[in-house]
Amino acid sequence: MFDLFGTLVPSFSAEAYEPCLVAMADDLAVPLASFRRVWNGQLWQDRVLGRFADAQESIARACEALGARPGEDAVERALERRLEYERSLLRPFDDVLPTFAWLRGQGLRIGLISNCAMELLPLWEETEIAQGLDAAVLSAAVHLAKPDPRIYELACSRLEVAPSGCLYVGDGSDDELPGARAVGMQAVLIAARRDLAGRRRQPDVNWDGTRIERLTDLKRLLA
Ligand SMILES: [Mg+2]
Repeated sequence: MFDLFGTLVPSFSAEAYEPCLVAMADDLAVPLASFRRVWNGQLWQDRVLGRFADAQESIARACEALGARPGEDAVERALERRLEYERSLLRPFDDVLPTFAWLRGQGLRIGLISNCAMELLPLWEETEIAQGLDAAVLSAAVHLAKPDPRIYELACSRLEVAPSGCLYVGDGSDDELPGARAVGMQAVLIAARRDLAGRRRQPDVNWDGTRIERLTDLKRLLA
């Protein structure tokens, strides 16, 4: 069972995201600093838990919080910028698809649990990663987020495996590793991978369990 951002694809980088935020604020005619605060801060949890009807509504609500009412066209333009950024994030690291192929060759099933904003939902099915998985649970679609035990249990039921039969692999954000362990999975920390700005940044994690440097280390671990 894999995490997505920072594990299979690059993690969020404030630096790489900045041009997107600037363009969105410009499209929406709202001040950049306040838009950043509302979009990345105040509304973040609601976006990850999918509390809006769709990504358009999440943008409209951010503007509303700033006293602005952009037209539909402006919202669509801003959303398109956000989707373009999201697409740039969704390219798997080099070791992902070969590792999936190896796991499948071992007769193992592959699942994913991601804490993600609503903008991932319209793009997800077209990604190479989605096509390589047996089951995926996206927080914004199921209104649950790691480390809530229910999101791990849901992923297990979709994969038709018991938590004790799962190995969870993630870079450690959102307390995902203790969360996985708490439901009975074995959990493994993957060392920091490159973000879109080319930097390696490990989320702030305190992990005393198994650690791997790259996904291909799973071969050794599972042997
Ligand atoms: Mg992650």
